[in-house]
Amino acid sequence: MAVEQDRLSSPQENRLSSPQANIKRFSICQVCDEGVTNPICPGCLEQESTQFLLDHKPTLIPLLRARSKIFNVPMDAVSICVSCGDAIKVCPHCYCKEIALWLYEDHPNIARQFVTTFNYELKSVA
Ligand SMILES: [Zn+2]
Ligand SMILES: [Zn+2]
Repeated sequence: MAVEQDRLSSPQENRLSSPQANIKRFSICQVCDEGVTNPICPGCLEQESTQFLLDHKPTLIPLLRARSKIFNVPMDAVSICVSCGDAIKVCPHCYCKEIALWLYEDHPNIARQFVTTFNYELKSVA
């Protein structure tokens, strides 16, 4: 499905220098500025990541929970999760990248498996 940016975004694009000025665009990730083509919310991805860690490194699960909270900030929703209907502020790619980078710090092998499992660039979640 090709849900590109809807034309709902207002014509007055306030391109102020503050990052907050650019957050009102629909279906555009708040972090990477790319279209959210695969709307899965961080909450659902956290569930999937938890499942992944259960198989690979269960001791990291509490840390994953803590890490996932960094996306729990007040931002405008840009899309709706196709899985749970929750608001989406950042795209799955940004969430997975954040988790992958975190894993790379201490567990590069697990990080590589995570990237393979959660490669939202190549694998579509139909
Ligand atoms: Zn993004
Ligand atoms: Zn969800």
